[in-house]
Amino acid sequence: MRGQSVVSDGLSSLPKPLVLVVEDEAALVTMLRYNLEKQGYRVAEASDGQDALNQIQEQQPDIVLLDWMLPSLSGIEVCRQIRRKPATRDLPVIMVTARTGDQDAVRGLNTGADDYIAKPFNIDALLARMRALLRRSNAVPEKGQLNFHDIEMDLSTHRVTRDTRRVHLGPTEFRLLEFFMRHPRRVFSREELLDAVWGHDIHVEPRTVDVHIRRLRKSMNDDGELDVVRTVRAAGYALDTEPA
Ligand code: CA
Repeated sequence: MRGQSVVSDGLSSLPKPLVLVVEDEAALVTMLRYNLEKQGYRVAEASDGQDALNQIQEQQPDIVLLDWMLPSLSGIEVCRQIRRKPATRDLPVIMVTARTGDQDAVRGLNTGADDYIAKPFNIDALLARMRALLRRSNAVPEKGQLNFHDIEMDLSTHRVTRDTRRVHLGPTEFRLLEFFMRHPRRVFSREELLDAVWGHDIHVEPRTVDVHIRRLRKSMNDDGELDVVRTVRAAGYALDTEPA
């Protein structure tokens, strides 16, 4: 999984990015795979929308090239479903449309794709857009360091500091904070947090989230320190320094 990457523009220190190509035209898939692999990407393929969603659930790619016209689920619907789940909300998606004229329609529909490219496209243009998106996305390596405000989280040593003070967290509070730090300022409902931090399969009451939020807040906020966990009434929680 981790190999030497030739993807330029500052991505070379990261593991080879995984691209999911969602496309039902076999010849186009072959062309994309050839070019993407040559550029140091790993490539996964899905030939219809449902297959794409299943694969994303199994192994989340770093970026998705999503054809607009697909059998079973359309590209738009796949994109909507990607955006609906907290775990994939920030996953970079490039929508590939059939004709230039579609692009305005796609923009208007606001499906949540990060970028669009019309067929037939220039492979270099596509690669440039992919690099731009990967740089912008939260491509923090699994063992890297996350920062927010005066909080530092080292993912390899599990050390958390606020300003210079060492913060001790339980395993669940650590995972909660990590999730928040990967998606700062974004409000998540209890259900979304359960899904992202506890996993889909485990049945936990939504109020359990409140218990762990309370513990996290207690550990993070020393006397006189700014509360970094924002409670949004009837909506959920966010890592934020701004009051609601
Ligand atoms: Ca197609």
